[in-house]
Amino acid sequence: MAGMTGDVPQQGIPEAGAGGYAEQIDKTEQARQTEHEDPPRPTYPALSRRDVERLFEPQVLARARRYAHAGRVRDLANIAEGLWHARVEGSVPYSVDVRILHSRVVSAGCSCPDGQRRTYCKHVGAVLLTMEEAARIEQRTTAFPQEASHELWWYWHNSGHRPDVRLGEDEWRAVRMLLERLYGLPDLAAYMRMNRDGRHSWQESVSLSKEQKKRYKHRARRRLMSVADVERLEDLPHGWLTVLEAAYEHLHDVEGLRLLYAMYILGARDDADARYVPRLRALAGGHWADDVALIEHWATYRHGACMSRDDNPAFERLLREEHLVDAAKCYCMLHSGEERRLRLLDMLVEGESEDSIDRLLEFLRQPDSAVYLGDAEQSAWLVGAWLDRISEVLGSARATDLAAWIADMFPNREFLQARLRAYVKETRDAAHEEAHDE
Ligand SMILES: [Zn+2]
Repeated sequence: MAGMTGDVPQQGIPEAGAGGYAEQIDKTEQARQTEHEDPPRPTYPALSRRDVERLFEPQVLARARRYAHAGRVRDLANIAEGLWHARVEGSVPYSVDVRILHSRVVSAGCSCPDGQRRTYCKHVGAVLLTMEEAARIEQRTTAFPQEASHELWWYWHNSGHRPDVRLGEDEWRAVRMLLERLYGLPDLAAYMRMNRDGRHSWQESVSLSKEQKKRYKHRARRRLMSVADVERLEDLPHGWLTVLEAAYEHLHDVEGLRLLYAMYILGARDDADARYVPRLRALAGGHWADDVALIEHWATYRHGACMSRDDNPAFERLLREEHLVDAAKCYCMLHSGEERRLRLLDMLVEGESEDSIDRLLEFLRQPDSAVYLGDAEQSAWLVGAWLDRISEVLGSARATDLAAWIADMFPNREFLQARLRAYVKETRDAAHEEAHDE
């Protein structure tokens, strides 16, 4: 079994014989691992995205992608030769195993109900997509990011009327200067104000007024206008900021890019923006802790009011991956949305007394609580989700207790009663099985 020991990652980095990935790990990533003594990170097999996508039905794939972008794949680990294990946060956490040989998916399994019917459920998809992206990031980290430059190139290409845009370094500097001034960077105050007001189209807020046009250097303005077509800026994922990002990329401006990624994380409303968390981590290297602190600073406490009230998938991913318990509590206080509390319940109760946990869950004992309003079926589903989550985080005794209370509160609600009965039965069966196993 000599091959076995040779291929299992030791301290997170496989030997060169395992496929040569070790050479591709970014130096800053290695430095970060030694400096902060983070847990070892796995090095991923080079899956082909097309091969992965082919395994799934389109709808399943779309859901898998959302899960992957939202960072719901946790504890991804290479547990034996060719065997990967992860936990995926669904309505409850599911256990996923994937067997990969020679960069090909050989088999997979998931503990979710859908996984009993088909091999390739959305959780398996989320794991494979996460691995595929992680492998790509590992391979790319030696090169400076070029994403925004590619986006901009497509944008020019498809707009058809600017085929000759070729900016030199001086011109990119001019573009950077102008956009940084318009956004008031490196201070984030103006950006966060816009973020709070829920303004989605940045170009509207930074489109040039007459005085600004006069104030800024003529050449810089001309260059900026040659880069972006104001009418079609919406086509770029972050409008003007994508243009600024491209300028940073062209100028290899690490600090500028780090600040911009932090802005994307703070302002994210879209699952896709959650990918800036691993990107920033890779780019920041030894400065990662500073960048996390900067984001926390603007997202919580005094500045927390600047956060948009919408759910922020990128910030939630950061909360999870860096285990920022205080920031998670603050984030949940900013918004009364239940799903947010449901998702982050494990962090909300961490270090809290029994009394404050009771207070946190008190709303489930109130008949006029939002959980019980609206559509009966949906309400029953939500109550079930809460009970599952409470059971998982705080133990089944507390959840069963609550289930009994809720059943007494609404004796005539059919869906709810059925859901509660099913919950109690599941719990009893699980307890029985456990006792049986022992
Ligand atoms: Zn599944």
